[in-house]
Amino acid sequence: MAKARGQARNTKQLRIIWEAVKDDKSHPTADQIYDRVRKKLPTISLGTVYRNLQKLVSDNKLQVLMRGRSQHFDPLVEHHQHFICEACDRVYDVLIDNQREIRPAKLPHEGFRVTSHQLAFYGTCKDCLS
Ligand SMILES: [Zn+2]
Ligand SMILES: [Zn+2]
Repeated sequence: MAKARGQARNTKQLRIIWEAVKDDKSHPTADQIYDRVRKKLPTISLGTVYRNLQKLVSDNKLQVLMRGRSQHFDPLVEHHQHFICEACDRVYDVLIDNQREIRPAKLPHEGFRVTSHQLAFYGTCKDCLS
């Protein structure tokens, strides 16, 4: 019985965390999501939020964007690039229709294998320009 109750609680936590990020295009960090989730689940820990975010990543519902050493969570899981505003640090999604493969001219050593690449555009967003 206790186990079933625990399971129900886990499902509810996962659902609330998913609802907090699923429409968020701002690429929030775990801390930002935690602040939001805490309004609905005041006793939840950052560790639990983090574990659930990792679960959503492994279920392919979220993508992780690494910026420096921090992870940002992205509900847009189709392949896309990012525009990063250097003035406000906001991250915008950039869809590229003609997805051509980018090949490095030369890898550092023989025998390396590329599995993916990440490209980012830097500049100033419309809000910061006006
Ligand atoms: Zn900006
Ligand atoms: Zn994105």
